[in-house]
Amino acid sequence: MSTEKQQSHQVPEPDEVTGPWWEATRRRVLLVQCCAACGHAQHPPRALCTACGSSRDLDWSQTPGEGVVDACTVVERAMPGFRPPYVVARVRLPEGVLLLSNVVTEHPYDVGAGDALRLDWRPLPDGRALPVFTPSER
Ligand code: ZN
Repeated sequence: MSTEKQQSHQVPEPDEVTGPWWEATRRRVLLVQCCAACGHAQHPPRALCTACGSSRDLDWSQTPGEGVVDACTVVERAMPGFRPPYVVARVRLPEGVLLLSNVVTEHPYDVGAGDALRLDWRPLPDGRALPVFTPSER
C-alpha cells in the first residue's frame, strides 16, 4: 500500500487535460499540445491556450523524438529510482516548448547546453512511461 502511495506521489495522475498525453506514453509517443487557432505549442498540457486563450482549438502533435539541452544540472543526491549522479535537463523540443526531463548517460558531467538529444523512455510499473533523453551520437 505504501509503495503505491509513493508511486502516485512521484508521478502525477492523469486528469482530463493530461489524460491523452499520458495515454500516448503507453505507445511511447511524446505529444505536444498545440493550438489550431493560433499555432502556439505548449507544455505541460493545459485547459487553455496560453497564447490566445482558446479552449476549443487545442490539439496534439507527435514530436519527432529529438531535443536540445536548454539548461541542465548534475544531481549528486540519491532520489527514489535514480542513481546519482544523474542529469536533470530542461530540453527544448523542435516545437519550441521546454520539457523538464533527464539525460541518461554514462558521462553526466559532459552534458551541456546546446547538446543534441534523442528521445528515450523510462517505463513506469502501470504501463505508462516518462520521456527521458540520451545524447545523440556526434
Ligand atoms: Zn491559441
